[in-house]
Amino acid sequence: MAKRIIVIAEHFQSKIAPVTFELLACALELQRFGQGPINVVVLGDRIEDLAHEIAVTSGMEVTAIQNPNLKNYNGEIYKNILGELLPELSPACVCIAHTGQGWDFAPGLAIRLGAACVTGVERVFEEEGRICFTRPIFSGKLVADLRSASDPTIITVQPGSFKTASFETRTPGPVILRTTSYQPRQSRSLGAKSAKEESSGLTEADVIVSAGKGIGRKENLKIIERLAALFPKSAVAGSRSVCDSKWLDRNRQVGLTGATVTPKLYIGTGISGSTQHIAGMRSSGFIVAINTDPNAAIFNVSDVCVVEDLTTFVPVFIDEHEKSKA
Ligand SMILES: Cc1cc2nc3c(=O)[nH]c(=O)nc-3n(C[C@H](O)[C@H](O)[C@H](O)COP(=O)(O)OP(=O)(O)OC[C@H]3O[C@@H](n4cnc5c(N)ncnc54)[C@H](O)[C@@H]3O)c2cc1C
Repeated sequence: MAKRIIVIAEHFQSKIAPVTFELLACALELQRFGQGPINVVVLGDRIEDLAHEIAVTSGMEVTAIQNPNLKNYNGEIYKNILGELLPELSPACVCIAHTGQGWDFAPGLAIRLGAACVTGVERVFEEEGRICFTRPIFSGKLVADLRSASDPTIITVQPGSFKTASFETRTPGPVILRTTSYQPRQSRSLGAKSAKEESSGLTEADVIVSAGKGIGRKENLKIIERLAALFPKSAVAGSRSVCDSKWLDRNRQVGLTGATVTPKLYIGTGISGSTQHIAGMRSSGFIVAINTDPNAAIFNVSDVCVVEDLTTFVPVFIDEHEKSKA
């Protein structure tokens, strides 16, 4: 029998994380290259309902691992349980989300299984009959192709890289429920809470004007705020570099480790377009990017590309707009 593709489902506060369905999309692509059946594994305390939800939505077989010590995520438990379970399922490839959880347990799990570990995968393709993976390097300025030389291969999949899988099936997949009582020895999870402070208004905004490091200095945020003010339901956001510099509050960061936004219009100013930033804004309705570098990666996902210095272009644009209004 062909070896399986395993998807480790991610969930938080009794909800399946959307990235789980992107992992399934990645698994379906791997299957196109001749890999075997897909099996979803979900771990947690009282996990049966979520397991059935995945089985009903995807029609795939789901193995639910129930552990009373998994009220909160614990990497040590994940590595131990999966280290024992996965060899039984004879995986060719194990798909894990490239998120805080995935980074935490995927490399240690790979060591336990004697597996290859390819992180931050954005694309899978076939070359000379072997499956290869593309991942960003140097903060997304370059991409690297890799071919795994061992079996199984653990991959962590970059959120936003695979379009959420849609399923036509009406037949739920089987759910296999297992119970373990493994107790962590090295660390205890004390619980998780939302890090969000007051609302940034990013999720409600129709238009988001986002500032990158290319704005040069904090004072230039005024230009960005003036541009945002042209639109009635707008908000100002920023890249991680801008939030790291404390030019904007952390709750205004867009991207993998910030907010995922879907405004009607997203204007990215002085943003290079790292994969981590794109992951948070690529589903916007219409994307405009302003950047002095004609090769900036953000232009690859933009509907309108403006190759200009934002500190001169944006004020001229606002003035022209005001003149035309008058
Ligand atoms: C695990 C991890 C998670 C991350 N999560 C996030 C995340 O959630 N969100 C995020 O944004 N990043 C995230 N990052 C960081 C990300 O990799 C990039 O470093 C960051 O997005 C770069 O920010 P930037 O585009 O503002 O700056 P830069 O990469 O420095 O780009 C500045 C851009 O401005 C342009 N520019 C310069 N001057 C001007 C001018 N006068 N006019 C117009 N254009 C100009 C330049 O050509 C350049 O393209 C993460 C990184 C890691 C490793």
